[in-house]
This record gives sequence, C-alpha cells and structure tokens, in this order.
Amino acid sequence: MDKIFESLYKAGCDVRMFEKLSCHTSIKIGGRVKYLVLPNDVFSLERAITVLKDFPFQIMGLGTNLLVQDEDLDIAVLKTERLNQIEIKGEKVLVESGTPLKRLCLFLMEAELGELEFAYGIPGSVGGAIFMNAGAYGGEIGEFIEAVEVLKDGRKIWLSKNEIFFGYRDSTFKREKLIITRAMMSFKKEKKETIKAKMEDYMRRRLEKQPLDLPSAGSVFKRPREDFYVGKAIESLGLKGYRIGGAQISEKHAGFIVNTGSATFDDVMKLIEFVRKKVKEKYGVELETEVEIWWNGRQW
Ligand SMILES: Cc1cc2nc3c(=O)[nH]c(=O)nc-3n(C[C@H](O)[C@H](O)[C@H](O)COP(=O)(O)OP(=O)(O)OC[C@H]3O[C@@H](n4cnc5c(N)ncnc54)[C@H](O)[C@@H]3O)c2cc1C
Repeated sequence: MDKIFESLYKAGCDVRMFEKLSCHTSIKIGGRVKYLVLPNDVFSLERAITVLKDFPFQIMGLGTNLLVQDEDLDIAVLKTERLNQIEIKGEKVLVESGTPLKRLCLFLMEAELGELEFAYGIPGSVGGAIFMNAGAYGGEIGEFIEAVEVLKDGRKIWLSKNEIFFGYRDSTFKREKLIITRAMMSFKKEKKETIKAKMEDYMRRRLEKQPLDLPSAGSVFKRPREDFYVGKAIESLGLKGYRIGGAQISEKHAGFIVNTGSATFDDVMKLIEFVRKKVKEKYGVELETEVEIWWNGRQW
C-alpha cells in the first residue's frame, strides 16, 4: 500500500487518490491530484501536515476562488470542509476554517449577532475568506477578526488582531502562507428580523447581477483602484459574451468568466490574458487576478 496514503489515513483523515479537482472547484476545472485529503478535525489536519513534511501540498477551502491546471499535479490537497464547528461565546464566535460562510451567516442570524450580512452569498469557507480578506458591499471579513489560530512550523498558535494585517483581498495569511485552523470573531447584537432583511437584500442584489447559475470562480480581477470598475470597463470594450473555447465572459457580469461546459485551464488563461491586454490598451491599467491560480503545483 502507498505509504503516504496509509499514514494520512492513520492520522484520522479520509484520503482519495488521483481525485479530479474539477469536482472540487466552483469553475469545474482542475486535473487529478495524488492525494485529496479530508481531515476530520483540526487534530487530523495537524497530523496530516506532519505526514506531508516532505511532500508538496496545498490547502483548499471550498474551491470557489481557484483556477487549477488540467494536467495531473503530483501534490496533496488538504480540503478543510469537515472542519466546520461553530461555538458561541457571548458576542464572540469561535469558528473552524472549513465552515461555509453562508452557514456562519445563518448561525449568526439565529444568535441575533449582526454585521456579517454582506458575506451571505460569498460561496467560500471562513478560512478561504480570511486568507483572501473576502468582502462585498463595503464590508470585509477582516474587520470582525479578534484572533486567528494557524499552523506554523508544525505548531498551532493564535495570532491576535494586532499581529494580523488585512488589505484589499490581501492578508498576513496570504503573504506568509499560513494554514488557518480556527478564528475568533466578534459581532454586535442585532434583531433577527433586521439581520434577515439585510441578508435577503444582499442576496437579491447578487442574484440580479451575478451569473450564479453557471460555474465560475467569482470576480476574476482585482479592482486596480477604488474608482475603477473592472466589470464596467470590460463591458465598455464590447466583450460581454466573448468566448475562447469553452470559457466565456459572462453575459450578465463582465467581471466573471464562466465555464460554458467544456472550458479548459488554457481557455480561461487565454481569456484572462486577452482581457488584460484590451484593458491595458484602452485604459492604460494593468489588471491583476483575484482568483488564485495553481499551475505546476505552484501558486501563481
Ligand atoms: C459566484 C461567486 C461569487 C463570489 N463573490 C465574492 C465576493 O462577493 N467577495 C469576495 O471576496 N469573493 C467572492 N468570491 C470568491 C470566493 O468565494 C472567496 O474568495 C472565498 O473567500 C474563497 O473561499 P474558499 O474556501 O472557496 O477558498 P478556496 O478557493 O478553496 O481557496 C482560496 C485560497 O485560500 C487558501 N485557503 C483556503 N482555506 C485556507 C485555510 N484554511 N488556510 C489557509 N489558506 C486557505 C487556498 O490555499 C487558496 O490560496 C465569489 C466566488 C464565486 C464563485
């Protein structure tokens, strides 16, 4: 039996060998990885990382901000989806990194804790959102963080908010490639009906503007400046609906690239480069990708 498989299994993880990542990314693209590892709790994640000390690995939350190459990758991917416990401590909440943001929002609504309503509808996990400092409608997840537990050099440590940097789609975790296991967050008391109404309003706006019914990885590009709207700029170039292979600039929101069914990694990368070139020609602006790209086992 494969030795690494056996050790990961003994560490308390479930492991699938040669699993296609296209089944785990929201854009439905991605080749096979040697080990797809599902830790069943924080301790099995910790042990899995010890097992993988000499084997390359990546962390995945819910795969909603990822573009992965189609060729096989000789890596392990640790997917945090089973680390999804939430504990309430007064106005503070202790949440594991694999918890879907949407579930956290629903939990907060029942607990009558407000402020995270803007994140209802971001389809990622809490860990992925903290790593990316995900945000929408003027709010960012980093604002509500009290402390974050990470695995650093094989040890679990808590970083308090004054030790953490959050920027626009940027964080200490992204810069230092830290593995997030849990977060302590704090929120203000609010009536359930008020929270519910805000969540429904944000969700309605999303459903109106975004192509949620097609596979995508969300907004492809970062906003280069406060006053530059990427979607509007791409739309002004007449590129809505433009296709390369199976990848298409969404007809509904030009900031999204959707997989029309047969898109490959190359189709999406070519479309990204094409858009960057056109936007640079017309507006003199260099677009950077917001989506994380896994290519040759490296993060781009
Ligand atoms: C339809 C749609 C709408 C979206 N809308 C928004 C939006 O409004 N605002 C917004 O900000 N984003 C949005 N996104 C993008 C995405 O949902 C967010 O970036 C989300 O926070 C990513 O979480 P994830 O769990 O899916 O991360 P993944 O895609 O799995 O991973 C993203 C990155 O985070 C890292 N990561 C994940 N978990 C951990 C962890 N526990 N520890 C360390 N690193 C980790 C991964 O290694 C990877 O580099 C949208 C995406 C889609 C498909």
